[in-house]
Amino acid sequence: MQQLAICSKCQKKTSVYFRQYSGEHLCRSCFIFSIEEKASRTISKFSMVNYGDKIAVGVSGGKDSLSLLLVLKHLFDRKKTNDLIAITIDEGIAGYRDESLKIVKEFCSRLNITNEIFSYKELFGIDMDESMSIRPSEKMTSCSICGTFRRRAIDIATDYVGANVIATGHNLDDQLQSFMINVISGDVNRIGWTYPEPISYGSKKIKKIKPFIEIYEREIVFYALQQNIPFQSEQCPYQDESIRSEIREFFNSLEENRSGVKYNTFSSILKISKILKNNDNSLKNTCDVCGYESTGPICSVCNNLRILKNT
Ligand code: SF4
Repeated sequence: MQQLAICSKCQKKTSVYFRQYSGEHLCRSCFIFSIEEKASRTISKFSMVNYGDKIAVGVSGGKDSLSLLLVLKHLFDRKKTNDLIAITIDEGIAGYRDESLKIVKEFCSRLNITNEIFSYKELFGIDMDESMSIRPSEKMTSCSICGTFRRRAIDIATDYVGANVIATGHNLDDQLQSFMINVISGDVNRIGWTYPEPISYGSKKIKKIKPFIEIYEREIVFYALQQNIPFQSEQCPYQDESIRSEIREFFNSLEENRSGVKYNTFSSILKISKILKNNDNSLKNTCDVCGYESTGPICSVCNNLRILKNT
């Protein structure tokens, strides 16, 4: 019979997780501690949070955002330096959002954190179901419409709840995929925007932070399982992530045989994005319609709304 490994950290308990890239075996509590420590180090390394910042956590009901809420709750409850609030965006997708809204509500009440919900319908006068039924062409993809609205909705929500920091659950795998998508689509300016050290933007001086940016996706999933975090089971009916999924599979298969390759790639992306961020002036304009920051005279939200409402 195969002998169970002992935790490499505490040298006492039985291991539940093998961290291939470091060769460590970890018991449940050392694994949980390692994830929370890693997020804490990332926050310090990239100066993500200052004393007294109020943090709005974007919580969708997926494993990443719920795990982030729990990790930040543990970190900031310990330090007692920052307030947390959960914001949830309701895209208006029948049969999909209902389950996650319920999960988020219950999870937030378990953690004693306020949860505020904002819908596309109330913010933009149109929801995703309507947008999909009237879009003039399939070239306006579901996720591009939705992603544009979501980023703006989160900005508005953060301001509304009086927060100055938005925290999202993007992990290291998300960062690799976004980098490759930006390279493939020739959108070089966006690479600079992904550098993790936040800059305050807009008249409200809001910062966007990603405390899980140095953690592998599968470790977030395992953290969520170990913490009994509930999972959303419904898939979005409009999901159009074909390139993202292919890139995810590509990096997973590389990592399978060359442990640590994702982290090495991430380190290179950090250096590239830092250089591009310092050279980027593309967000110095404001939209002629809504006044939010924009790369051109009209921002992508107003542009999408104009196309959708004129159809
Ligand atoms: Fe929106 Fe696409 Fe996510 Fe569905 S999968 S919620 S359309 S971004």
